Amino acid sequence: MDKNKVIIFDTTLRDGEQSPGCSMHLSEKLDIAEALEELGVDVIEAGFPAASEGEFKAVQEIAALCKRASVAGLCRCKKEDIDRTYEAVKNAVRPRIHIFIATSEIHLKRKLNISEEECLAIIDKYTRYTRTLIDDVEFSFEDASRTSYDFLTRAVQTAVDAGATTVNVPDTTGYSAPDEIAAMITHLKNNVRGIENVILSVHCHNDLGMAVANSLAGVRAGARQIECTVNGIGERAGNAALEEVVMALKTRENLFGLHTDIIAKRIYRTSKLVSGVIGVRLSPNKAVVGANAFVHESGIHQHGILQDKATYEIINPLDVGIPENALLLGKHSGKHAFKELAEEMGYALTDEQIDSVFPSYKTLAERKKTVSRVDIEALLSGYTRRIVKRIYTLKDYDVSAYKNSASATVTLESEGKIISDKMSGDGPIDAGFKAISSATGQNFKLIDYQVHSVTEGKDALGDASVKLANGNVQMTGKGISTDVLEASLIAYLDATNKLLQMEN
Ligand code: MN
Repeated sequence: MDKNKVIIFDTTLRDGEQSPGCSMHLSEKLDIAEALEELGVDVIEAGFPAASEGEFKAVQEIAALCKRASVAGLCRCKKEDIDRTYEAVKNAVRPRIHIFIATSEIHLKRKLNISEEECLAIIDKYTRYTRTLIDDVEFSFEDASRTSYDFLTRAVQTAVDAGATTVNVPDTTGYSAPDEIAAMITHLKNNVRGIENVILSVHCHNDLGMAVANSLAGVRAGARQIECTVNGIGERAGNAALEEVVMALKTRENLFGLHTDIIAKRIYRTSKLVSGVIGVRLSPNKAVVGANAFVHESGIHQHGILQDKATYEIINPLDVGIPENALLLGKHSGKHAFKELAEEMGYALTDEQIDSVFPSYKTLAERKKTVSRVDIEALLSGYTRRIVKRIYTLKDYDVSAYKNSASATVTLESEGKIISDKMSGDGPIDAGFKAISSATGQNFKLIDYQVHSVTEGKDALGDASVKLANGNVQMTGKGISTDVLEASLIAYLDATNKLLQMEN
């Protein structure tokens, strides 16, 4: 094992997915798992199999899908949870079981109601039990950063003695500062017998905006696994952002002397996929992947950049896969040119996929005259994904609007049948959504609706996202079109189709 390699453990599908409004359809989880593997992530935490049937099935399918990455399932120290998790991950090429218990005084007293000695006995018992099932066992000491050094050392020693292969010390509440994370790692390295035979891991939350800094301090002190999520999504203020941790290690390799196996060129695409799936836009100043992360506004900066990019740019945006917005194809470009460009952008499309996406490209080129890489990225990112089974598809729509009143007729197709409905509303979008609800006979609650343009200019592609809820299950639908009304209706129908397929 390369001692300077930092293992990237991605928990977008577990810590990320469990955060408010981030629930994903199974096919979206599979798309993300596939993208994470292509990104070069070492460990994919796929979910919490004992939590529900849906979680179990998702972890099981991700385990079967991944060809190289380890697939981990999280569980409590309970035999039935561990057995269930084993069932879910056992067919992975590299299965991992991730068990945890809290160790801080407040968690032991107020949450678990157990003594320190009882806690140690549980750690010993369930680590040993998990090792009878599987070789790769990660143990997490929840709220480790607020646990006394004395007890944390005893707890980690117990897990190491019982056969844990990775030991994770989370900053569960996002309370610590970088010096403290480094000191905790150093203390464990100096005081736990056999620690050199296990991987030490950090899992930092961003409540005080220090998750990335804390993770980096952890690896500088000797941890060799960072738990993180794409775009930093996760509980409350989120987790350490994968793209920031990776680009900090890469850009400052002279300082850290460490590296990861992440393929940086795939960062931007993975970030877009995740934000698209959950329907959460990134703030423009988000490091590495935000819309303004590489935009130079001040005259002095622009002047510098024109002379030499290195004056103000520490990362080349092309290195993280941000496409150049150069004008490329026109309406006369053929299928061949389109396929070649897609390949150059890293999309290996089958002839069938080309045939299915090409008409959308043609429509776009006719409406827009020139199509950029950014437009093509937006088109392809939808087409290369698993298609959520379309119970309903939009066939036609007709909307008329005047000031505060509008009416919409939508025509849908479902299993060969044509359904049409007409409704009125406060505006064209409202009327269109109501007509779809009425046609499908569903009354899902609209939680969020957003429309953005993919590129600049009046002929830009509109990117709509609609979040609908059925009870406490939420799903986000997406639609892309040069017509924002059409994009919105497609997104509404996409969310409806997803909700109709949720088992629990
Ligand atoms: Mn967490």
